[in-house]
Amino acid sequence: MNANPQTPCMASAKYIFVTGGVTSSLGKGIIASSLAKLLQARGFSVTIQKFDPYINIDPGTLNPYEHGECYVTDDGAETDLDLGHYERFLNIPTSQANNITTGRIYNNVITRERQGAYLGKTVQVIPHITDEIKRNFMLLGETGKYDLVITEIGGCVGDIESLPFIEAVRQLKWDIGEHNSLVIHLTLVPYLKSAGELKTKPTQHSVKTLLEAGIQPDILVCRTEHPLPLDIRRKMALFCNVHLNSVVESIDAETIYDVPLLMKKEKLDERVLEKLRLSPEREPDIEAWKDFLGRLKNPTEGVTIGLIGKYVELRDAYKSIAESFIHAGAQNECAVSVRWIQSESLVSDHYESVLEELDAILVAPGFGQRGIEGKINAVRYARENRVPFFGVCLGMQCAVIEFARNVLGIVDACSTEMERETENPVIDLMEDQKKITVKGGTMRLGAYPCDVRPGTLTYEVYGRTRVSERHRHRYEFNNAYLVQFEAAGMMAAGVNPDTRLVEIVELRDHPWFIGTQFHPELKSTVMNPHPLFVSFVRAALEYATQKKMLVSKAVR
Ligand code: GLN
Repeated sequence: MNANPQTPCMASAKYIFVTGGVTSSLGKGIIASSLAKLLQARGFSVTIQKFDPYINIDPGTLNPYEHGECYVTDDGAETDLDLGHYERFLNIPTSQANNITTGRIYNNVITRERQGAYLGKTVQVIPHITDEIKRNFMLLGETGKYDLVITEIGGCVGDIESLPFIEAVRQLKWDIGEHNSLVIHLTLVPYLKSAGELKTKPTQHSVKTLLEAGIQPDILVCRTEHPLPLDIRRKMALFCNVHLNSVVESIDAETIYDVPLLMKKEKLDERVLEKLRLSPEREPDIEAWKDFLGRLKNPTEGVTIGLIGKYVELRDAYKSIAESFIHAGAQNECAVSVRWIQSESLVSDHYESVLEELDAILVAPGFGQRGIEGKINAVRYARENRVPFFGVCLGMQCAVIEFARNVLGIVDACSTEMERETENPVIDLMEDQKKITVKGGTMRLGAYPCDVRPGTLTYEVYGRTRVSERHRHRYEFNNAYLVQFEAAGMMAAGVNPDTRLVEIVELRDHPWFIGTQFHPELKSTVMNPHPLFVSFVRAALEYATQKKMLVSKAVR
């Protein structure tokens, strides 16, 4: 790092910062991903990282209601769900380095302080914390793998907790010299119905806050429900000190996957390249993306899939699953309508009537006792009625418990997560988890290999014997029961080659019944929909068709 602002060093990568103002939830992650997509489509190698202002070291210890899904990377980092968007848009994996929190920054500095690295000095927010933020801003850029690093700063400008990040951005701009970095500021231009007007004042104030921190944004991206007329754009350009062509409209879109095309129309990528003095290698090649959108928007059929979970009131808790259905639906030219079902509701006498309307059932991941019996009822319904069933992580564990109770007749079978003293722990804490007492980052996390058994449906779906999938759990299938399960028709269709842990179960005598201990949804992207989801949606379609035929026969 060049500490002297007067002698700028040559940065190997260029840095784009995305800040937000006016309100949270404007979609900085989608704007960052869409811009990255366009730059990637022009031949640049791009990565995106997220800097979050909260004090947790990572979001792994946060309740999903609080923060939505925890996205897990190949290298086992528990990260913000925006990293899922980065991967789904760019089709390249992220890692621990792509998500940094204030907690991690302070942790690094404090650990170093205890090691004596700052002996004699008072350790302070400036320069020690801001230096550590800058060092982390540049880590991925310094690998030499990327032409451009986009950094999304969580929260809103003006928040007390994001001040050190904003200050670090200000300093870094100086450190690396002109044309090596730029700031995109995302704001909201609200429409006041009573006045019949779009309002620019919140944007002006937000830019003023950024200016107070010493940062002049280079580009404004304005979220709006209505097209921005020229006079409104002019006003914002004038009062926010940006060029007219750097006021970019970001109008509400039908799907997040439209946003790259909308940004291309607004020339966001061109502005960025001009300001960074980069010559575009080519026009963006986004034909495959457009094909995907074409399939997504012109489905020839439709299915309704139930997602049974205990956090369904906050859909972000299952973000990657919902997106995987979108990718898999487009692949099948089939509109997937997800019905969000609270697992706790599936214990009443009439729960079957809720499930009858579905063309397939997915039992979602989760933790703890709440909602578990409803999930087990959903599995039972799917198994007995030959409805396509997909169990993900806890969903697979529920499938195992249900099979033990209702097929093997082990009526008290359970997971030790729900019932520590159960006599029949068909799901049990993994051996190496037994000595762990610390909570953050200590689950079985990240990518592990899995051997898929030839002759199974899973093998047919993947078309290969060795796969790698991402994990986040502490409990596992108890191999002491494996022989019994297989004899009765629930097969271990995938096992870890090193530990023999069962990673996939499958029912022999069922059209589509698969449970995975891993999270396939974390690897589904627009360009690479996950094969298990693609096949599951196809199975739902087949089931729906059969159901229709039966009904029409009955009518005749
Ligand atoms: N609670 C279960 C476990 O820890 C499942 C976790 C999950 O669904 N991600 O094993």
